[in-house]
Amino acid sequence: MNNHSSIYGGLFIVAAIAIEVVVGIAAFRFATTLEQNSLIGRAASIAAAMESEEITTLSGNESDLGTPLYQKLKKKIARIKEANTDARFVYITGQRNGKVFFYMDNEPVESPDYSPPGQTYGEASQGFTMVFTRGQEIIDGPYADRWGTWVSGIAPIFNSGTGKVVAVIGIDINAVSYFKRTFIVVLASVSLVGSLLMGMFILYARYIKEQALDRAKSEFVSLASHQLKTPLTTVSWYAEMLLNGRAGKVAEKQKEYLEKIFHNNRRMKELVNALLNTSRIELGTLAIEPEPVNLIEAADSVLDELSVQIKNKRLQVERDYEKNLPVINADPQLTRIIFQNLLSNSVKYTPDKGMIFITLKTQKSDILIKVSDSGYGIPKAQQSQVFKKLFRADNVREKEPDGTGLGLYIVKSVIEQFGGKIWFESTQNKGTIFYVMIPLKGMENKKGTKELV
Ligand code: ADP
Repeated sequence: MNNHSSIYGGLFIVAAIAIEVVVGIAAFRFATTLEQNSLIGRAASIAAAMESEEITTLSGNESDLGTPLYQKLKKKIARIKEANTDARFVYITGQRNGKVFFYMDNEPVESPDYSPPGQTYGEASQGFTMVFTRGQEIIDGPYADRWGTWVSGIAPIFNSGTGKVVAVIGIDINAVSYFKRTFIVVLASVSLVGSLLMGMFILYARYIKEQALDRAKSEFVSLASHQLKTPLTTVSWYAEMLLNGRAGKVAEKQKEYLEKIFHNNRRMKELVNALLNTSRIELGTLAIEPEPVNLIEAADSVLDELSVQIKNKRLQVERDYEKNLPVINADPQLTRIIFQNLLSNSVKYTPDKGMIFITLKTQKSDILIKVSDSGYGIPKAQQSQVFKKLFRADNVREKEPDGTGLGLYIVKSVIEQFGGKIWFESTQNKGTIFYVMIPLKGMENKKGTKELV
């Protein structure tokens, strides 16, 4: 990993922790709200199931103990407690002289936790006491007392006539069981988001590793190609000297062999240049240095370079150039590489006596370059691969063994770097049309260390 990726990796971990904290808090809030609503709902339903007249009939003293009404309500409360399996206490309280007291609770008389009628509820919280005046259900707690840690649902019982609070019902739930579901929801959300983030991090780390590997490969190719250039140039130089008779007369057979050496050396130079260009594009070191370029001159100069092949194949070349085609700001070397690839491909992949057509014209805010030929075409099934690295179509590989499969990959990468477009249409054995759009506003300057060769 380079410095940048470890910074991004660190940032990712910090962001992941922050996301987890936010998710944890959100899940906790969501789950506790649900829990609170559910406990408030339970307390309110119990309160609603109580007859206020029955409660006001009680005196709230030990004298209630023997009355059938007390017995009846006590049974009711006990049943409610049984139905709410997670509840520890269910009780009805009243208020007298500013103090909260018990009308009754669910506990049997023999239980040590039993609160007889009239007993003051000393532990009643301020919130609890306020339910008498406010008439609003609340959640009380969590709080700890001698029996454990609790959360209580508190709800008022109203006089059905006056609407006044006549008593307050409480239902105590053990805090552990109260928070159990909340804990599960928080844990589930945090783990789910955590696994997602972890997955993303693994993918990111893999991507960074692949990038580093790719970069190392490109750097190696760049270095190796660069080293190969010097001996290749020397070989071609000496071959040329021998061919020109600088070292004495050359016999016919020797000439033939020397030409083979020269030709194959040129192929090798082309391949090395293409590899160097590919690595420069992939390393992002490519510079774009625009200056005013006349595209017509650029196209003609490439056609000039290809004139020997054009003549040998007796190809007919038609040029359709828009009069006064604007001069645009473009990198001359990149422009040359575009024309060189498109035109040399149409010369290479068009059989003898074929046609090549080149059009240059403005189209809205672009200049359109169109290079068409009546050549071998590209098989439909392979058309999607044309711009991929090292691709050569099956129909031309035997006919034209010379080729690197890198030209169009380089051209497309270059064109996309300056915001242009390239596409094509082709029919096998009929011909191919390549289109390139270069924005009239020209290419933007891009700082880099290397030019294409
Ligand atoms: P190269 O020409 O060195 O093989 P390119 O990247 O320039 O590599 O082209 C890739 C492939 O696309 C060629 O090998 C050929 O199969 C196909 N191709 C490109 N241009 C043409 C064309 N004008 N006519 C037919 N096939 C073409």
